[in-house]
Amino acid sequence: MSKRTDITLAIGSSPITKRETIANVASYYGSNTFSEAVMKKMVSEKTFNGFKQWQEDGVVITEKQANEIANAMKEWAISKGATSYTHWFQPMTGLTAEKHDSFIAVNGKEQVLEKFSGSKLIQGEPDASSFPSGGIRATFEARGYTVLDPSSPAFISEVELGRTLCIPSIFISYTGEALDKKLPLLRSDAAVSKAAVNLLKVLGHESRQVFSTCGPEQEYFLIDESYYRLRTDLQLAGRTLIGAPSPKGQQLEDQYFGSIKERILNFMIEVAEECYKIGIPVTTRHNEVAPHQYEFAPIFERSNLAADHNQLLMDLMKKVARRHGLVCLLHEKPFAGINGSGKHLNWSLADDKGNNLLNPGETPEANLQFLTVLVSVIHAVYSHADLLRASVATAANEHRLGANEAPPAIMSVFLGEQLTEILDQIEKGKIKKVKKLDAVDLGLGLLPRFIKDTSDRNRTSPFAFTGQKFEFRALGSSLNISTSIAVVNTIVADSMNQLASLIRGELKKQGNFEAAVLTVLSRVIKDSRPILFEGNNYSQDWVEEAARRGLANEPSTPEALKAFINAANIDLFERHGVLSKVEMVARYHIWTEMYQKIIEIEARTLAEMVNTQVLPPAYGFQGEVANSLDMLIDYSGDKSIGIPDGAVADRKELFIDISSGILYIRKNSKEMMELLKRSESLELAEKCRVYFSELKPLMAHIRKHVDDLESKMPDEAWPLPKYKEMLFIC
Ligand code: ADP
Ligand code: MG
Repeated sequence: MSKRTDITLAIGSSPITKRETIANVASYYGSNTFSEAVMKKMVSEKTFNGFKQWQEDGVVITEKQANEIANAMKEWAISKGATSYTHWFQPMTGLTAEKHDSFIAVNGKEQVLEKFSGSKLIQGEPDASSFPSGGIRATFEARGYTVLDPSSPAFISEVELGRTLCIPSIFISYTGEALDKKLPLLRSDAAVSKAAVNLLKVLGHESRQVFSTCGPEQEYFLIDESYYRLRTDLQLAGRTLIGAPSPKGQQLEDQYFGSIKERILNFMIEVAEECYKIGIPVTTRHNEVAPHQYEFAPIFERSNLAADHNQLLMDLMKKVARRHGLVCLLHEKPFAGINGSGKHLNWSLADDKGNNLLNPGETPEANLQFLTVLVSVIHAVYSHADLLRASVATAANEHRLGANEAPPAIMSVFLGEQLTEILDQIEKGKIKKVKKLDAVDLGLGLLPRFIKDTSDRNRTSPFAFTGQKFEFRALGSSLNISTSIAVVNTIVADSMNQLASLIRGELKKQGNFEAAVLTVLSRVIKDSRPILFEGNNYSQDWVEEAARRGLANEPSTPEALKAFINAANIDLFERHGVLSKVEMVARYHIWTEMYQKIIEIEARTLAEMVNTQVLPPAYGFQGEVANSLDMLIDYSGDKSIGIPDGAVADRKELFIDISSGILYIRKNSKEMMELLKRSESLELAEKCRVYFSELKPLMAHIRKHVDDLESKMPDEAWPLPKYKEMLFIC
């Protein structure tokens, strides 16, 4: 039997010991976070208030206060069994980074003490040279610093043999440039706060602060670990580079929301427990559409926390999966021909009293405010669709956006029938006054109740209004959500500023407040109209219609990333203090280079697999067919055996088929390697262009022939776990 068959027969045999008592979540939720409540108990009132002021107004605490907090944190962490600490941050490569240091210090008497100072709490200095800076360091200083982010609590990460205190931090260069994904997010929250407070003020509402809220829905695949170990492509590229479709895929759609297999549910339960310990509020878990595809969703939080928590969730999912003999695949398209995995970014804005600005209100004023915020978001998406597209542009997500099995890379906004009708009426000037009960009634019922209760859905829309939040659905499953949030916040801030100044101008012309606001809304709706689309985003009609409307549809990652170096966009980000030109160019450079490297790794992995795993058994089979053909030819001379007519021709056909498959695989692989070689001297942007337009199609071509071979070769001779196994056996 082949290794593959052995594995398949052994799957599912590792038993889990049943627990008799299960702790209730409230008894341990957040037990591994240094929460405000814990801090409050452990430090003086003055220091605690100082810390709160730092969080809320950005007034950094004194050295003495920092020492006090560091000491408390150390005591707390040691009481939890931690021996080391690390500043935990999110470099521009999309992973998270940590450099552990122990608490120990040696005093003069050769005694070991456990120490942690305020300065070490607030600032760390990892070796920045190991992280890409996109040229920032070439022009500035080589050093990079991690600096504590007071808005995200420290937590303890656990493995069997030890615990580590993790301090969420930002990562900056010596001159203050953001070397990470978190600082731009924090700056964008400040920008959107400023703009929203200003807009609310124009609308007659005072608020101190506004912040963005997020709830990312995380999709993923699980497969048995033993299959994973036999798949070089999954290990090196995160996705299958070859693999014939399974006769049963997702056609029956019998997996979605179906009963969850026990083995998977055990995994989900453990992930949730690990999450609860460090205060990640995961709440929803279910099967997704594709076989072996699942989803986790948390209760929404402030964006910054949501972003940290999503990074941690992904990390925990991978770690916990291994404990269950499973591998968690976060790649956007691990399997061809069935759905990929995304991450729906639910986004809204809330004021300091916790009021959701996208919640249709109960009063005329609230309705007017809701509509103004809503229209600001629509205008932002219309004006900066290129930036939204760029924020989700990665080599992996390219298989989801604009590829042949996936939604197009066109940004559009879905509002639902009722809201669309209301905006239509406002645009036409038919609504003159937003009244408490009937102004936006339109015979359809009250706006507030109406929208809350109708869960109008369009699952194909990349940017959908879903009741009291927008859902940005184009994010890939492995993406760090920070960049998309930073983009949404920044573009919304800009549109809010524009709407605020238009409303102010209109107010000068016409005294009636509501009429002035509605006039502005009408104008902005008219301008942004092309971005509104209620139909099926996956249809060819929409691709054509969008082109007529002048909406961008950029399938290529490197092309999409160019939005980050477009002069108007640089100006926009600089204006809002979110990213400087240097920081944007750095990001463009790093992300384009990552694209190049990923495609190269994939191409080389494919070549190696073809040469060492696909072709050798194919030659063997080719030989067997040749032998049997010889035999048939020999025997056909002997009329007494009675070989049927056509048998020789049929075997010849198979021989030719296998032989030509082998030939094309080899020919295209050689061409692929030559193309890689030829591209070596090209500059980055041109290399990426060639990879997108020539290398990737070549890879697809090789795959087609390999997959064809897979479906004809003897099962026993095929060494790679097949789709029908990886996706169905568990
Ligand atoms: P769906 O029907 O789209 O699955 P849910 O109500 O289950 O919607 O919410 C999906 C995600 O949206 C959850 O993570 C939820 O916490 C989040 N969410 C809900 N309200 C908000 C909000 N105001 N801001 C940000 N995210 C939100
Ligand atoms: Mg959703």
